Amino acid sequence: MGRRKKIVQECERLMDTPENIRNIAIAAHIDHGKTTLTDNLLAGAGMISSDLAGEQLAMDTEEDEQERGITIDAANVSMTHEYQETNHLINLIDTPGHVDFGGDVTRAMRAVDGALVVVDAVEGTMPQTETVLRQALREGVKPALFINKVDRLINELQEGPEEMQERLQSVIGDVNELIRGMAEEKYEEGWKVSVQDGTVAFGSALYNWATSVPQMQETGIDFADIIEYNRNDEIDELREYSPLSTVVLDMVAEHFPNPVKAQPERVPTVWRGDDTTELAEGMRLVDDEGDVVFMVTDIGIDPHAGEIATGRLFSGTLERGQDLYVSGTAGTNRIQSVGIFMGGEREEVESVPAGNIAAVTGLRDAIAGSTVSSTEMTPFESIEHISEPVITKS
Ligand code: GDP
Repeated sequence: MGRRKKIVQECERLMDTPENIRNIAIAAHIDHGKTTLTDNLLAGAGMISSDLAGEQLAMDTEEDEQERGITIDAANVSMTHEYQETNHLINLIDTPGHVDFGGDVTRAMRAVDGALVVVDAVEGTMPQTETVLRQALREGVKPALFINKVDRLINELQEGPEEMQERLQSVIGDVNELIRGMAEEKYEEGWKVSVQDGTVAFGSALYNWATSVPQMQETGIDFADIIEYNRNDEIDELREYSPLSTVVLDMVAEHFPNPVKAQPERVPTVWRGDDTTELAEGMRLVDDEGDVVFMVTDIGIDPHAGEIATGRLFSGTLERGQDLYVSGTAGTNRIQSVGIFMGGEREEVESVPAGNIAAVTGLRDAIAGSTVSSTEMTPFESIEHISEPVITKS
C-alpha cells in the first residue's frame, strides 16, 4: 500500500474520534510566512516531500495564486500528528493573507476552533494581524501565536539572547493587547497567549526549526544554544532536535479545543436557532447520529468533479446519496460524493462524521456561507466581513 493511501486510511480512522480532532486555521499578515509554515508542517507530517516544501507551495492550488505569489482561495488539508502517544487528526484551513480577501478569512474561522496566528519577529504585529485576531475572537475561535523569522533576529540583526527575548516579549505583549481589547472576557478566561503556558512558539518556518517553553524543557536547548546553532551553521542539528512541525503541532494538539469541547460554546455564538431542539443538542454533542448540519465555508472547482463545497460538519454524518436542504433555496440537493482534502487534492471517502471538515459534491445550490441540513432549520448567522483599507503588496 502506498504511503499516501496509508495516510488517508489513518485520517479516516481518526475522523471517528472527535476528541482527537483539531480544526484549525493559520492566519497572518501577508509575507509573515504562513505558506512556508504550512508547507513545512505538511512535510513534517509526511504529507509532501520535505525537499519540495517551500518551493511547492502546496496550499496555493490555483495557478493564478502561484503566478501572483499570494494565497487567494481558502484551501484545506488534513494531516495526522502523534502527541502524547495519541494520534491526532489536524484539519487545517488555509486563510488568505491579503486584506481584500477578508470575507474568506472570516468564513474559514467559522469552520475551525483554533487560530494559529503567525507574526514576523522583525515586523511585529501588523494591520492584518489585528483583523484576523478580531475575526477569530468574534467567531469564538481560540488563538495561539507562532512568532516566525526568528533566524533574522540572529543572522541579520545580530541580536543576543536578552535582546531576542525582549523582542519576542514585545510581540507577545502586542498580541495580548489586541486580544484584551477585543475580548476582555475571553482574555480573563485564559485566551491571552503566554510563553509559560505554551501557547506561544517561535522559530523559523524557512529553516524548519521552532521552540517553545515545553520544548525547551524537554530538550534543554535555550536561547543561547539556538543562537549558537545558527551562528555555527548547525541548523541541521537544531532542526533535528527541535523540528518545526513537532513543536507547532504539539501546541495545536495541547492548546486548541477538540470539537466536543468547542461546539457547546461555539454553537450559541454562530447559531441563533431554538436551543431546546434535538437538532441543537446534536450540534452541542457533535452527534454523528444526529441531524446533518453542515456549514459551507468555501466553494471550489475541481476540473473533474465540478463544484466542491467545503465546510464544517457540526452534527450528523455526510454520505453519498443524502438529500439535503440548502438555506435560502427551495427543495433539496443530493450529495454525489464526500471527501477530505489531502495536500491540494480531495480524497473521496465513504462518509464523514460530525466534527470534521468535509468536502462534498452535488450541492449545486450552495454558496459559501450556506447552511446545509437534513431537516429544515434556522441557518447559521450570516458571516460579517470586516472591511478595511486595501493594502497592495509592494
Ligand atoms: P505568506 O504571505 O504569509 O504566505 O508568506 P510566505 O510563506 O510566502 O513567506 C514570505 C517570504 O518570507 C518568503 O520569501 C519566505 O521565504 C520568507 N520567509 C518565510 N518564513 C521565513 C523565516 O522563518 N525566515 C526567513 N528569513 N524568511 C522567511
